[in-house]
Amino acid sequence: MKKTNLRAWQVLFLLAAVLTYFALVSNRTQNAKFSSNQPTFSPTLACTSSICKASLFSARQTNALKTVVKNKEKIASSALISQKAEPAAGYCLSVPVLLYHHIQPQSEAIRKGQASLSVDNGFFDRQMQYLLENGYNTINAPTLINALLSRTPLPPKSILVTIDDGYKDAFIYAFPILQKYHITANFMIATGLTGGEDNMSWDQISQIKQSGLAYFVDHTWSHYAISHGTFDKIQYEIQTGKKQLEEHTGQSVNIFTYPYGSFSNNAIEILKNDGFIGAFSTIPGFLQCDSFIMTLHRNHIGNAPLSSYGL
Ligand SMILES: [Zn+2]
Repeated sequence: MKKTNLRAWQVLFLLAAVLTYFALVSNRTQNAKFSSNQPTFSPTLACTSSICKASLFSARQTNALKTVVKNKEKIASSALISQKAEPAAGYCLSVPVLLYHHIQPQSEAIRKGQASLSVDNGFFDRQMQYLLENGYNTINAPTLINALLSRTPLPPKSILVTIDDGYKDAFIYAFPILQKYHITANFMIATGLTGGEDNMSWDQISQIKQSGLAYFVDHTWSHYAISHGTFDKIQYEIQTGKKQLEEHTGQSVNIFTYPYGSFSNNAIEILKNDGFIGAFSTIPGFLQCDSFIMTLHRNHIGNAPLSSYGL
């Protein structure tokens, strides 16, 4: 009897140990998934503007910011699960918005742990060539948003190329390809990251601007998930991004892109009160309607021919 009890306890203990091990492994995998999407921060944030408060941040504060962004990533990623394409309502146009982050050789992406958010530059070249050869008309964000607001059609096969976060590889690899095929692209810039180790400098942003091929979109100051935080914090992130981008590009900024695709009704209200006329989410879908002009759809593009995305 005693022996049977002992064996039962041994089996239970073994089972508990196995379950604990799998729980730990699954948690680690989950964390790794979140951190792979995390933007790179530099110890010091470049800032030349008098209105810019980024330079007031010490390296310690920047590290705190880094941790906050890491945590926000988890919140935003879980919030994303419930985000679905809005139904067609109001005035709608079928305009695909392609979503890119890093564009660099795949070997470099793997070495840096950025493969999940990276498109190989050779693939990007073929994708841009495909747009050109198949009669696509690459437009900027205000063209789409103004067409929806004024309820006017766009030329057939209108499409947007969007490149998020202002990574340095977008300047090194994507920009020459955009020039080669004369493709218009929209750059979503988190201004506080500019000049960081992995991010473009303001000078590089100016060079892209001078090509006449780029439109710049507010993506907050610190790549902040604006569905969370106080009114003051959200306002600071939106306004600082807008002011710095306007100052450095000379372009007016009234279009927004949600970092991590994270938005809320509160965030949308603040954006509208700040004069923003449209915003991009990460909800997939080709249909864009004036009824959801503050959460327009975008489609993640990876290392595959554009024809495989329905284009
Ligand atoms: Zn982003």
